[in-house]
Amino acid sequence: MTDKSVFFFDEISVPDKKIFGGKGANLAQMTQLKFPVPHGFVISTKACQTYFSEGNTLSDSLKKEIFTALKKLEKSSGKKLGDTENPLLVSVRSGAEVSMPGMMDTILNLGMNKKTEQGMAKKTKNPRFAADCHRRFLQMFGEVVLGVDYEIFDDILQKQKEGSGTQEDTDLSANDLQEIIVAFEHAIINTTKNPIPEDPFEQLLLAVSAVFDSWLSNRAKTYRHIHGIPENLGTAVTIQLMVFGNTGKTSGTGVCFTRNPSTGERKIFGDFLINAQGEDVVAGIRTPLEIHNLKAILPETFNQLTDLLEKLEQENRDMQDVEFTIEEKKLWLLQTRTGKRTAEAGVRIAVEMKQEGLISKEEAVSRGDVRTIETLLHPQIDPNAETTELTRGISASPGAASGKAVFTADDAVRMAENGEKVILIRRETSPEDIHGMNKAEGILTACGGKASHAAVVARGMGKPCVAGATEMIVNAKAKKMTAGHRIIQEGDIITIDGGSGKVYEGAVPTIPAKLSEYLETLLSWADEFRTLSIRANADTPEDAKRARELGAEGIGLCRTEHMFFTDERIFHIRQMILAHTDEEREDALSHLLPFQRQDFEDIFTAMDGLPVTIRLLDPPLHEFLPEKDKDIEALAGQFLLSFEEAKDRIKALEEVNPMLGHRGCRLLITTPEILRMQVRAILGAAISAQKRGVSVHPEIMVPLVGMSSELSHCRREIEAVAENIFEEEGVRVDYKIGTMIELPRACAQAKSIAKEADFFSFGTNDLTQMTFGFSRDDVGQYVPKYAEKGILEKDPFETIDRGVQELVKIGVERGRTEKPFLKISVCGEHGGDPDSIIFFHTEGFNAVSCSPFRVPTARLAAAQVAIRNNTI
Ligand code: PEP
Ligand code: MG
Repeated sequence: MTDKSVFFFDEISVPDKKIFGGKGANLAQMTQLKFPVPHGFVISTKACQTYFSEGNTLSDSLKKEIFTALKKLEKSSGKKLGDTENPLLVSVRSGAEVSMPGMMDTILNLGMNKKTEQGMAKKTKNPRFAADCHRRFLQMFGEVVLGVDYEIFDDILQKQKEGSGTQEDTDLSANDLQEIIVAFEHAIINTTKNPIPEDPFEQLLLAVSAVFDSWLSNRAKTYRHIHGIPENLGTAVTIQLMVFGNTGKTSGTGVCFTRNPSTGERKIFGDFLINAQGEDVVAGIRTPLEIHNLKAILPETFNQLTDLLEKLEQENRDMQDVEFTIEEKKLWLLQTRTGKRTAEAGVRIAVEMKQEGLISKEEAVSRGDVRTIETLLHPQIDPNAETTELTRGISASPGAASGKAVFTADDAVRMAENGEKVILIRRETSPEDIHGMNKAEGILTACGGKASHAAVVARGMGKPCVAGATEMIVNAKAKKMTAGHRIIQEGDIITIDGGSGKVYEGAVPTIPAKLSEYLETLLSWADEFRTLSIRANADTPEDAKRARELGAEGIGLCRTEHMFFTDERIFHIRQMILAHTDEEREDALSHLLPFQRQDFEDIFTAMDGLPVTIRLLDPPLHEFLPEKDKDIEALAGQFLLSFEEAKDRIKALEEVNPMLGHRGCRLLITTPEILRMQVRAILGAAISAQKRGVSVHPEIMVPLVGMSSELSHCRREIEAVAENIFEEEGVRVDYKIGTMIELPRACAQAKSIAKEADFFSFGTNDLTQMTFGFSRDDVGQYVPKYAEKGILEKDPFETIDRGVQELVKIGVERGRTEKPFLKISVCGEHGGDPDSIIFFHTEGFNAVSCSPFRVPTARLAAAQVAIRNNTI
């Protein structure tokens, strides 16, 4: 039946996440496997979509279906919703196709009211437990359905604890809880002017609507935005018999991963709390116990749990994140899903699962998360650094980060938007903090364990997190925290190390990370599948070395202008720019030549055996001259000019649109001395390196070509210098001459340009700029707004735009019409962007070139697209 919206777990034969949400699908799967799952049913995501399309109302037919399902659940459980002797209580949970941990709402203990509480107290002979369920229900329903502020309930709870001299919720007596219930009820009426409806079915329908509505909460929207999850999926709702972890000492609740989600180690990882319910563990209200402690407390249950975890992992062929409840020693599984993991853990798990024979090599490579690999190359604390330890917590998400302390998510956003690096410090985080967590460099909390909200979200975002630094007392209102006798105020700099759980005062120096053994393995497997060659954009010998260590197979772009910015070199560049005669200009350039030559020789040496593409000078000369009067005065002094003269010379070079101006090959054509000096330096360096036994493969690249005549002109100049130098030195080296393709005209004229070129390298930064007519240096004013308003799907300077793709396709096709085997690559920023790499692979590029830190990402992305295209 296509119109059906409500499905019992045991009637779902194909557990499709699209229809039943991740939670519903997995509960159905576990039910099929005869795992201990409380019985229940799912309201489909389609029903949620209909709910929104019908003005956020539950249709009569859906209400009817829910009612029928409820009756069936009552029958099978022998309990009745609202019954005063044997009441049925249910949980109402959200569950979208893509898991969004903690972002949407849940209501537990639904079915509670004064009468059912009494019935439960009598039946279980445990009035404390019944009262605890009631107060929890009021709190959750009050918050989620009626929108009462969490803090109002929390204040009442804290005051009651203080009044009765207890530390933990579990120490509150049945009487304390009764007082809390009265206070909660008052608080609800005071805030909403209405009591909670007594009729449990009415409660249920309100809860279902509230869970649907939570799809559109700000935090859920922010999460979807950050993780690129489509807005129109909607959430399913699962309604399930309650099982109780809060009946006493042989009950509890926990969250457990089948492997360590922080490091990937094959060892169960999680937390639990005795005498607790559902959200207590995740919310970080009490600091929970590490999962292995369960062995001593409830050994049989622990063994059963580990057994089931193993089976779940085998069944799903991936690391699972499981929620469980123990009711009077009986284990119940409430949820399983593919566990979120850090980049580091993701790599290790993929590699080890392949080695265990659980998945294939292709699957292991395909599972590498191209969006987070780069974070593995983020700095670590320098082991030799002097440090002052402030406090310690649990290592919840690896990596080191320094920044100014902030105590609220809003402050984190405000300060980060002012360009400050911040560390968000909270007692515990809640989903309301998501926007601040997103802007922070790292997260530090006082409460909560490895499965706390802070830990899970930080891991998902690839940010360092130290959780449960219990010594710390956080006062968000006063914007400070204390750890022992030390006080940290907003703005004080601290450093957190999510790998060790340590927190330090001040900014601790860091060192670059190394590729782990697991990442090396995964990348070596990736290399077996990819067909694209991966090169790096590197301008210095150090960058070249780093790039090679990270697996670069050559340099795709060496921007020579970056070599000119040190004191002595900039002096000669300026001397060249300000020269009056050709002789003066050549003299200035002759001083630069040895510097350039040395740099190139070092780069060739670092890249022994691999190709190195060196681009001739690209930027307009004006970029090398000072702007401020103070600096112009110094310049005038250096070159024996008057201040006015110096200013006039600078003014004369000014252009209205410098990026459309006198730069690239235009400059090389008008000032051939620059081209000659650079070609001498490149080929001279290549000859010297070759004489030392280095295998050199220089490729000289001409920027900003729009006409084949520009390239043929430059080519003749380059060849003339090359012949000269080969004759002088008495040796030759093999070299190539190619061009950047970064103007729309160059794409259109690619056939004739290809006649003059040994290779093409698409400069997609300029090509994007020139295609859109967006100045790439000023887009901050409108591109983010375009993205916000949905006018642009993605930043076109990050992921190659469709329109630019069209031009690239034309360029490739016309270039290869002239030369079928023309080597084609890309060296714009898009060369390191996984989505763009899919396009370059599909268009038959030979190589992509990107910044050294993105080389591992590019290796993996190139392999994944090759695998995907081979299997479809
Ligand atoms: C480009 O335009 O894509 C390019 C690589 O050159 P640059 O960024 O130096 O202009
Ligand atoms: Mg360019």
